[in-house]
Amino acid sequence: MYVPVLGREEVSNLTSCVENNELIRGPFATQFERQIAGFVGAAHAVGTNSGTAALHVALMLSGVQAGEEVFITTLTFIAPANTIAYMGAHPIFVDVRDDDWQIDAARMERFIAERCDFDGQVLRNRETGRRITAVIVVHFFGMPADIDAIMALAARYNLKVIEDAAQALGTRIGTRRVGGIAPIGCFSFYGNKLITAGGGGMVVTGGEAMAARGRYLVNQAKDDPVETLHNEIGYNYRMTNLHGAIGCAQFGRIEQHIAAKRAISQRYLAGLAGLGGVELLREKPGTFCTYWLSSIRVDARRFGMTARDILARLRGLEIETLPVYQPLHRSKAHEGAQHCGGAVAERIAEEALSLPSSVDLSADDQDRVIDAIRSCAKAARRTA
Ligand SMILES: *Cc1c(COP(=O)(O)O)cnc(C)c1O
Repeated sequence: MYVPVLGREEVSNLTSCVENNELIRGPFATQFERQIAGFVGAAHAVGTNSGTAALHVALMLSGVQAGEEVFITTLTFIAPANTIAYMGAHPIFVDVRDDDWQIDAARMERFIAERCDFDGQVLRNRETGRRITAVIVVHFFGMPADIDAIMALAARYNLKVIEDAAQALGTRIGTRRVGGIAPIGCFSFYGNKLITAGGGGMVVTGGEAMAARGRYLVNQAKDDPVETLHNEIGYNYRMTNLHGAIGCAQFGRIEQHIAAKRAISQRYLAGLAGLGGVELLREKPGTFCTYWLSSIRVDARRFGMTARDILARLRGLEIETLPVYQPLHRSKAHEGAQHCGGAVAERIAEEALSLPSSVDLSADDQDRVIDAIRSCAKAARRTA
């Protein structure tokens, strides 16, 4: 449903990897790191072999320790929450805002005020007795989270901030690109993202020492250029030159991809206008969204049919739509985890539907989706 769009540059870059025998290390990986760092306004970038690996490294760079707790939105793809578990740390799932589906800073603040102790240095969860040391801010579905509110809160309570901008490469708040705002940001180049590298991810940061340490960790923590000496446990997380070759080619078309995603959202907006009970997730004033996914929210009472009913009917017409992620405080994978709120995310998960949004989606195919949703509304009226 969100298929990568590949071109001739990918072929010629990959060919040169093979001809020069530069599959793992080589110039493309480095060039791609520079391109992404420059694009988001970060001084440094360290390529990884996935976005999940980037988040795992970011948590290590933030100094999160086993047994600590980390705030994260409950409405997200599960990968960033899993990386908290990889650290032996514990997620605290925070509910989202109803209007933009992003982590609710006000609710997080209330949780801190009512359920935590702060001694000026250490924030402690009263119920578990554990330290809370970081927050992962996921910019969800191509929209920006309220990173400024979270960073202000984090500064007050001594929390490290990591941005997960895997779904929001190119999204801006004013002139600032997300992922490059907090001290550490993470990206993914999985096949369904705005641009792909055939997998791969990246950590970006303004800190030179932090970048150097990240590079060390993703290269098995090798401590000597000649001898095979390791002073720490490292990871085989490096981005390969093959990833870089595809990534560089895709990066050359990033503005085209963004324009295409925005045009898709505009076409849905126009096509679904006036349809009662259906609302498209839209950017707020002062922000610029890349609309990784165009998503609607269905008010079943007004529309006459639930989001899941629409999904099923469209599936019958061979149109693939997707429900949003199960809120993680409901996920078996994170059973027993703490959460503050969650009802808003649960309602969004009931009511949301992501529409076909691939960069190469044709206007005709999109109109078919729009017509199909309109026909659902007609069918609902007939049976009402
Ligand atoms: C895709 C994604 C990731 C993980 O990226 P991979 O490259 O698939 O490991 C992390 N966070 C979010 C929000 C994502 O959408």
